Amino acid sequence: MANSITLNLTSSQENQLYTAYSAYQQPPVPYSKWRLKLNGCVITCYQSGKTLFQGENAEKYAKNYISSTPQTQHKTVSVHQSSAQYPQAGSDEVGTGDYLGPVVVASAYVDESHVHFLESLGVKDSKAVTDKDIENIGKQIIEVIPHSVLIVSNRKYNAVHSTTNLNAIKAKLHNQAYVNLSKKVTLPALCVVDQFAEKGLYYHYLKDESQVIRTLHFETKAENKYLSVGTASIIARYTFLEYWKKMEEHYAMTFYKGAGDKVNACAREFIEKYGEKELSNIAKLHFKNTEIVLKKQ
Ligand code: MG
Repeated sequence: MANSITLNLTSSQENQLYTAYSAYQQPPVPYSKWRLKLNGCVITCYQSGKTLFQGENAEKYAKNYISSTPQTQHKTVSVHQSSAQYPQAGSDEVGTGDYLGPVVVASAYVDESHVHFLESLGVKDSKAVTDKDIENIGKQIIEVIPHSVLIVSNRKYNAVHSTTNLNAIKAKLHNQAYVNLSKKVTLPALCVVDQFAEKGLYYHYLKDESQVIRTLHFETKAENKYLSVGTASIIARYTFLEYWKKMEEHYAMTFYKGAGDKVNACAREFIEKYGEKELSNIAKLHFKNTEIVLKKQ
């Protein structure tokens, strides 16, 4: 996975980093002061003042420096975060763990008047709602609940993923889902993201975006704690499944979710029918599955 994070560190932060890991020094590259090779991360400190963290563990090493770097500092709203506070908005995504199919991110706005309706549909425990029930529940929800939903097709995903890491893609999508929602309703004081990255990193990934929603609350497993996140999760799943059905119709095949053996068999069958090139229209090519599927038997 292409994962790189660039930070402007203070000289004392640079020194701290260099001193902590000086045993892992590598020969410097042009225009750099020093370079360190750690477990799953290469850190290069440039004369320009920029420090680049690259590799699968880039986030792990960079995160300590992110919340304290000036460009990502922001005021946090100190609201007591209660899951029963209304109105509230929430966001969640689906499809990132499935080799086949798109990535979908949704945000949803829930006020007091929606609570009974959503609870009666079983949204409170959204993980327990089966795919079979999603169609019926999702259809009702999108009629009533203000929401925004974004679909990233596989073609687009593969193009973007070659230069951007997955969490950066997710951050941009969640932010956009809130920006879109803010055009339909006034965003409430409580907006909850089902957390996939640390807050500091989330905002770091948005540093070049023109509009950034900065009043978000981040919490893991939020879809079962906040009705708004559970609702967003169901809208995302509903949209994903609708797209999936169209994909199956279009290719006249049955596709499988996840990333296991059944999915590989299915992808092989797809390639036999439609050719290797077409795979980028239905699969997330950076998954290990691609290598397995394309290996000659
Ligand atoms: Mg989630």
